[in-house]
Amino acid sequence: MKESIICLDPGHGGVEYGVKAYGLSEKDVCLDMTRRIAAYLNRHGKVRGLLTRAGDTALDWRERIRQAEDIEADLLLSIHTNGSENPMEAGFETYISGCAGLDLRSLQARLHNHVAAFLRPFGIWDRGKKYDSESYRGWIPLLEEAPCPAIQLELFYLTHAGEKSWYRHSRFRDALAFTIAEGAALLLQRENRLPVR
Ligand SMILES: [Zn+2]
Repeated sequence: MKESIICLDPGHGGVEYGVKAYGLSEKDVCLDMTRRIAAYLNRHGKVRGLLTRAGDTALDWRERIRQAEDIEADLLLSIHTNGSENPMEAGFETYISGCAGLDLRSLQARLHNHVAAFLRPFGIWDRGKKYDSESYRGWIPLLEEAPCPAIQLELFYLTHAGEKSWYRHSRFRDALAFTIAEGAALLLQRENRLPVR
């Protein structure tokens, strides 16, 4: 039986910093988080986690998709940290394509609820399971064009004074990475092989 593969995509990179606040850059936090998630998955043995970028490089969404295709990923997880000009904005949310069918909605719900349950005791609230049409730009091409089920996690806000502190704790990052790896591995184990969309 083919080993399941998760394509882990750290948001932004290179000259594209993503959100910058309080001395932290989204691109760095995302890379660190995906490395930790991959480490947990690869230790587990049955599900392999591969990164779209291993270092601080700028990647266009088409290149990210091409990589997911090349490795024949069963699931694509894009990891981002959120940000806003409004310092009160806070919380965790996930996105899938607005064209997603029930299968992908159910995968999103299971992974989302798993991560939200971990974050809640830390005071990080649940902003909900969303479609890319509800995102800032109104569409997320990576999610719409992905060759496999794709979910974007907006972990929580780098621009929120309370939430950003959690990003500074290595042990917290580790525990969150473990939770995401566990939730994603559970999806793949249950489905054996995921539906295409
Ligand atoms: Zn981002």
